[in-house]
Amino acid sequence: MTNKTYNADLSRRHFFSKAAAAAGMAVAPGVFLRQVHARPAEQAATSEQRWGILIDTNKCAKGCDSCVTACMDENGWGRADASEDKSGPHQKAQWIRKVTIKDKQTGHVQSLPLMCQHCENPPCVDVCPTGASMKRADGIVLVDKHICIGCRYCMMACPYKARSFVHEDLEDQKVVAPRGKGTVESCTMCVHRVDKDGTPACVEACNADNHNAMYFGDLKDPNSEISRQLKDYGGEQLRADLGLNTGVRYQGL
Ligand code: SF4
Ligand code: SF4
Repeated sequence: MTNKTYNADLSRRHFFSKAAAAAGMAVAPGVFLRQVHARPAEQAATSEQRWGILIDTNKCAKGCDSCVTACMDENGWGRADASEDKSGPHQKAQWIRKVTIKDKQTGHVQSLPLMCQHCENPPCVDVCPTGASMKRADGIVLVDKHICIGCRYCMMACPYKARSFVHEDLEDQKVVAPRGKGTVESCTMCVHRVDKDGTPACVEACNADNHNAMYFGDLKDPNSEISRQLKDYGGEQLRADLGLNTGVRYQGL
């Protein structure tokens, strides 16, 4: 990693040490503001919250990849002009991807974004030999690039294929999302935004495009928009049979 990257990583660590809470609020039919309830910036992430994302597959538009593009822009992976040009299609980073699924019996087709599911019981953390793969108290699962040795055990352990390995030197990285050759990475739930009372870029982009298929908020707050949606309309975990208790849930499956 370059000095620039290393410094950025330290900055990111500083972000990790801060925390905030968020909830949703309807301001008009079909229009939602993701309002945030801040807490002191110096206060560490706490288990009083558990951040989650709810995806309504009935609203997720086929052919739309605004969430993917927004994640690329926000976190600096997958850009056409990026330095990551020596890696093959199956080697390039993919923090979030659109998946199309078809019910074999009914023929019903659904489109949904798939990213790190921020498991409560994450196998990626269980197998990591260095502690680089970690879960914060508020449920966000991250990789500490300082101590990741690139063994990729976590990639093999993740049932959602949510992690990528950086194969080459990178340039022009985002300060909020430092990346490094030889380390593993995945969706951070835009922790740098969450810790500053913000909303993940994918959720923001989906709402900006008026699809409103994604909700972000505190699963432990019964009054948050995400909790109310789950209470009123339900929400499923992908591969719930694995018992990972994912922080990302889906409606309409
Ligand atoms: S989805 Fe994969 S990378 Fe994310 S927490 Fe679960 S096991 Fe870890
Ligand atoms: S690749 Fe890094 S984060 Fe993943 S298991 Fe190995 S040391 Fe841990």
